[in-house]
Amino acid sequence: MMMNSPAEQKMQFLFALRSKGITDAKILTVMEKLDRAHFVTGVFADRANDDTPLPIACGQTISQPSVVGLMTQALKLTGREKVLEVGTGSGYQAAILSQLSRRVYTVERHKRLVHTARALFEALSITNIMAIVGDGSHGLPEQAPFDRILVTAAAEDPPGPLLAQLKIGGIMVVPVGQSDTVQRLIRVTRLETGFDYEELRPVRFVPLVEGLGTDD
Ligand code: SAM
Repeated sequence: MMMNSPAEQKMQFLFALRSKGITDAKILTVMEKLDRAHFVTGVFADRANDDTPLPIACGQTISQPSVVGLMTQALKLTGREKVLEVGTGSGYQAAILSQLSRRVYTVERHKRLVHTARALFEALSITNIMAIVGDGSHGLPEQAPFDRILVTAAAEDPPGPLLAQLKIGGIMVVPVGQSDTVQRLIRVTRLETGFDYEELRPVRFVPLVEGLGTDD
């Protein structure tokens, strides 16, 4: 089978993003410039421009690019935010957030993934991400409150500690539901008195797991 040229692959990548509803020009520009191939290694490297999740180390996945784009868009970033991401994985989503916000804290339960992501951020000269090994379901109290929180693993409900670490007016985007069924992507906005919940779309994520990874 004839392989498309890198330029054709990139065009198809951008076409997939637009056709799945990513309309924000800044997000499209960042996703065009930041090559997903940096974050996908080994046998899957030549599929980096496919709009599909791919395996990474520790039995985890790098999310589908259009889902990364839609979650980023749902955060309504202006460039000034302090963002918490739960679930660093490959570091791809954090790297995109870093180009659209002031500072990103990203927490991952697998030490090996954090070390790989840190090395990539350094190689790409990205200096506004702090990657931390930890159980992100507790958030990051020492850096709270956050303007935005993005959870990239599915919780049964929006985790209470994360809701508590959101600023008033802040936004959290989180997949909610059982891990073996289709989940719903939820946007939570913290109001002066309580929270507003919006259901965005069906998604499928690996589960948010308590505690640190033991296999690395
Ligand atoms: N955002 C990632 C990327 O851009 O590659 C993809 C994330 S992957 C779909 C979900 C990640 O969440 C996995 O790496 C998994 O280890 C992590 N995770 C699951 N439960 C966690 C927890 N309680 N705290 C921190 N990370 C967690």
